[in-house]
Amino acid sequence: MKEVLQFQAESKELLSLMINSIYSNQEIFLRELISNASDAIDKYRYLSVSSEGKYPLRDGEIFLSFDKKKRTITIQDNGIGMSKEDLVNNLGTIAKSGSKDFVAKLKEAKEKQDLNIIGQFGVGFYSAFMVANEVEVLTKTVDSPAYLFSSSGEDSFTIEEAEKEDVGTTITLHLKKKSKETDYDKYLSEYELKDLVKKYSDYVRYPIKMEVTKYKTENEKEVEYKEIETLNSMTPIWKKNRKDVSEEELNEFYKRTYGDYEDPLLSLFIKVDGKVSYNALLFIPSHAPYDLYSDSFEKGLTLYSRGIFIKDKCPELLPDYLKFTKGLVDSDDFNLNVSRELLQQSPILKKISENIEKKILAKLEETKVNDMPKYEKFWQSFGEIIKYGIYSSYGFNKDKLASLLIFHSLKNDDKYISLDVYKDNMKKDQKFIYYVSGENLDAIKLLPQIEKYKKDDIDVLLFDKKVDEFAIMMMHDYKEVEFKLISDESAHEVSKEEQEKIDVITTDNKRLLDTIKDELKGQVDDVIISTKLVDAPVCLSTKGGMSLEMEKTLQEESLENSEEIKATKVLELNPNHELFNALSTKKDDDDLIKEYASLLYDEAMLLEGREISDKKAFIQKLNDLLIKAYK
Ligand code: ADP
Repeated sequence: MKEVLQFQAESKELLSLMINSIYSNQEIFLRELISNASDAIDKYRYLSVSSEGKYPLRDGEIFLSFDKKKRTITIQDNGIGMSKEDLVNNLGTIAKSGSKDFVAKLKEAKEKQDLNIIGQFGVGFYSAFMVANEVEVLTKTVDSPAYLFSSSGEDSFTIEEAEKEDVGTTITLHLKKKSKETDYDKYLSEYELKDLVKKYSDYVRYPIKMEVTKYKTENEKEVEYKEIETLNSMTPIWKKNRKDVSEEELNEFYKRTYGDYEDPLLSLFIKVDGKVSYNALLFIPSHAPYDLYSDSFEKGLTLYSRGIFIKDKCPELLPDYLKFTKGLVDSDDFNLNVSRELLQQSPILKKISENIEKKILAKLEETKVNDMPKYEKFWQSFGEIIKYGIYSSYGFNKDKLASLLIFHSLKNDDKYISLDVYKDNMKKDQKFIYYVSGENLDAIKLLPQIEKYKKDDIDVLLFDKKVDEFAIMMMHDYKEVEFKLISDESAHEVSKEEQEKIDVITTDNKRLLDTIKDELKGQVDDVIISTKLVDAPVCLSTKGGMSLEMEKTLQEESLENSEEIKATKVLELNPNHELFNALSTKKDDDDLIKEYASLLYDEAMLLEGREISDKKAFIQKLNDLLIKAYK
């Protein structure tokens, strides 16, 4: 009995977008269908080795054919096949994994004429409708009878029971009629199909066969004959010798496999023969995937054993701080019969993952040393993941990751420097690696605390990412030089004479400082005479390691108890500023000082790039001052 079923609503929109918006690169339909066939064979072969008997082991193969008269192309595989349910779920629902996202991306891609995102969301099969106006899928699994799925890619599809002896799938495309833009008949040619297989599917692990026409000379006459030929070279790209693989081939492989439109930033071609032998092909993308920071992001490398697919995203192969790495590992040392659960505890897997980690870190290090512009690009996309790796391991990973860190600094605000470079350029008597944090570089450069460092020609690392300070706190030091927040009260070292001078001013103005402190109770914990200000009259510093930026981040992140998260704040007054002199002359006028204490605090907040909490009161006080001045 023939059943007529409807495509899911979103599928319809997608289908029409796909079919109607894409002219330039429709030839990828063959790659998509072959890739599905290859996946289906992988699945069959996996079951062959893991569950004996039911799936007799056989060589996987994909067979291509075409019929000029009927104007059809057929792709046949001896893979796992589909049950009726599979047909409805897999082919009746497009882009299960994120259709809304996909529709949006596709619209965007249409504008950019960019097709590489097809495949990223699992719509490969539907690419057939770019060239065909009817697609038939005849398929059979080990457990179910054969079914014929048929659709013209409009609203509905049909499914009926059918005849098919062997387990596997045969897909027949009925090509569209010639249009103004395209002559679809070009695909009805040996030459064209061969060419497409070479171009897009050469690496497929199973032979892609086709009957081809050949010529030989017999009795001095040229004779035509037919022969079945394997069109692809089959050797997976990662099993080839590195020197036989061009950069372009690697890039193409990456883009096709991972659905990226940009070449990878870095690629690693690894062959290890030792106690554990494996091949790996790893890529670091040029840009972060859109979901890298979401909980749904899955890290991992694809695992093969002896060229047979075992598992897609094997998370054990990558530490979290390298989760952006894409790629695969193929090792002959795995026993295919081992269950997937046992595989996770496999010492071989552990060994390989440690080895891979070292290689990726070494490659990053090498890039940092030899090609800073490239490394900066890496850093802009993934630096935060590395820093988070230090933070989330409580500094445990710092020995591995610290040398990868790069930052902007006061003297290098237009480029990045590593901690080694910072260290090498420290002043002779400089004890600490100084840092300061803020919303962004421009805001940081305006911080009053920085003035003295500028004047004394001491470099300061500028932290403009939230995670920076948290990672540095966990590290505590780099090669035994301690990190120090410049706005921390203890950061600044002063000479004995300078300290004596400050002590005298402090004693002289004790009443003034106490009055301000009293008035600002709850807002600041101390009010002191500053040693670090040059031009600014006041600044807010902190004690005990938690900076104002950290306080802000922590308060934003914790919904409860945010009141309890507080940095210990110190209001510092610049003794060389005219404002201080003015205050000092009125130091016994408690009422006047009280009146302006909050103005000083607000001014310090503004200089920190913060908001004033009570704007109305601030304006009122400012106006009072102005009025008094002109009376
Ligand atoms: P993707 O392959 O990216 O998941 P497709 O739209 O190409 O998306 O295919 C959807 C699903 O249909 C596949 O995941 C697979 O389960 C099934 N499928 C497609 N082609 C075949 C095939 N030749 N044999 C068995 N299953 C297939």
